[in-house]
Amino acid sequence: MKRSPIKRSQTPLSRNTPLRSRSVLKTSVAAAERPKSTLRAIGKKGSAWIKVRKELKKRFEWAGITTCELKMRGCWFNDGLSFCHSKKRRKMQDLDIWRVCLGCLHCHGILDEKMSHEEMEQTVENIIEKRGLLVPPLVLQQIQRNQDGS
Ligand SMILES: [Zn+2]
Repeated sequence: MKRSPIKRSQTPLSRNTPLRSRSVLKTSVAAAERPKSTLRAIGKKGSAWIKVRKELKKRFEWAGITTCELKMRGCWFNDGLSFCHSKKRRKMQDLDIWRVCLGCLHCHGILDEKMSHEEMEQTVENIIEKRGLLVPPLVLQQIQRNQDGS
């Protein structure tokens, strides 16, 4: 019997295999030179976001906002909901992480892919302006203090 060529590619990336063993070859110069700080930065912002998100969820539920606020054509209403930021992550400053609206996957996709950063910010900020900023009181104070200061 011929040895099946499929066998080889079937080798699963086994569940417990550490990522680094996936490809020894690629651990060449390019991979080694990739800045490690990128990952770390994402990690830092990521973990901050987990906390903020938890708080936002509470605030939004309290305010009774449980469906998409963007309501664009083809809106999924309450399917695939997530928070949409007014600014791209890279451009966010400390308190911008709180400036969000709730969006379904469909509308969030339009925001991210079809709009310019300016349009995206404008759209989310319009929603925030109409319903008020949903953040914990302490954060609101901080934001107001910053706005007065600038
Ligand atoms: Zn929607």
